Amino acid sequence: MTEEKIGWNLINESEKKKIFEFSEEYKKFIGEVKTEREAVKFFRKMAEENGFKEMNGKVVPGGKYYVVKNEKAIALVHLGKDPFADYKVIAAHMDSPRLDVKPHPLEEDKESHFVLMKTHYYGGIKKYQWFSRPMALHGLVVTKQGKKIEIKIGENENDPVFSIPDLLPHLSRKEQGEKKLLEGFEGEKMEIIVSHIPDKNEKENAFKKHFLALMKERYGIDEDDFYSADLEVVPAEGPRDVGIDAAMIGAYGQDDKICSYTASRALFDAKSNGNVIVILYDKEEIGSDGNVGAQSNFIEYVLVNILEKSGKNYTYGKLLEIMHRSKVISADVGAAVNPLFKNVHDMGNAGKAGNGILIMKYTGSGGKYGASEAQAEFMAEIRKMFEDKKVIYQYGLLGKVDEGGGGTVAKYLASYGFNVIDMGPGLISMHSPFELVSKLDLWSAYNAYKVFIES
Ligand code: MN
Ligand code: MN
Repeated sequence: MTEEKIGWNLINESEKKKIFEFSEEYKKFIGEVKTEREAVKFFRKMAEENGFKEMNGKVVPGGKYYVVKNEKAIALVHLGKDPFADYKVIAAHMDSPRLDVKPHPLEEDKESHFVLMKTHYYGGIKKYQWFSRPMALHGLVVTKQGKKIEIKIGENENDPVFSIPDLLPHLSRKEQGEKKLLEGFEGEKMEIIVSHIPDKNEKENAFKKHFLALMKERYGIDEDDFYSADLEVVPAEGPRDVGIDAAMIGAYGQDDKICSYTASRALFDAKSNGNVIVILYDKEEIGSDGNVGAQSNFIEYVLVNILEKSGKNYTYGKLLEIMHRSKVISADVGAAVNPLFKNVHDMGNAGKAGNGILIMKYTGSGGKYGASEAQAEFMAEIRKMFEDKKVIYQYGLLGKVDEGGGGTVAKYLASYGFNVIDMGPGLISMHSPFELVSKLDLWSAYNAYKVFIES
């Protein structure tokens, strides 16, 4: 094992100042953007401000375009001199674990005097972390007439929030205490309290009727409108600096909006003569399925569009050739060593907070199942690139061999023939409502993506 270099020792005061400034811009984003829809909106706007246009009509060398799919996935394209040359692609995802509102969510509990909203958790969560916290409701309701009503409740100081009520310790001995930790909290119990005053004039469903009257009055929503809605319950708190030195950021949704942000920023800020695509997916947390996940043909769709709209003839063979020649960074977060749970890591192969972007040769679980492994040649190329351009980076794996595992979008892009490598900042408390990242690692991810685009 080579000698460890602590990232903070490799930077000077002016770089430290830059890191902290960049962190403030990132905090604005991560505090404001909590769902994939909000992320698409944010990146589309940022792209337009940077001279990108929606891709329709002819595309030209040097052009900047974006392609949006269903308001939940977006591809940012910056073409070089020849759209038929190879591409640098950075792929990340904008969805994060959360609680989705069920299509028929409302439940009145007459005995306890509450109206509750049922949820269905999305992605890999430790359920107990989501009880007894202030939660916000974000999303879109579409009425039968097609009217779109955007919902964002719980983010302003004066907004109400919602909460999943946990059990008091005095009465939880059997109900929770005698169960295994992760079985003490059931998915079906993850309901948020949404109201508590009954309608005085009603005998039947008085609590629910009062709630529905408020929803109608404030948002123009009827009960049936929940059927045609994408509503997500997310932690209501904003990002905070963590530690007396403010060296870390704690925030919800950093997996993987931190890579979506740093990759997009890198694209907007980079000087490049080559073809570059930053593609931001949805649905990674539930297996990359669906037409906005990495298992869809979105990347192929974007490439075919570029080739067709460039006015030259292209064949399927040409498309395959481009994909086989092109290189992809699968930009997703890794795990940094948690000081309280070091035993799940092989310390010599683990990512450490503050040591820079974490390059993972492979992910997967057990005997490397589900892994898309970067081959030695590509690893060497990246090493040289980062050494030459002074990117602070480290190598690491998720955890000990038989400890568990995880995957990224890497394997889905690899199946097209792309050469793919996994890298991203290491997080602590990943998938929790308050994920931690070192500001140095945030900055180094941005640098790494920028260097990859410019090289
Ligand atoms: Mn991820
Ligand atoms: Mn994840």
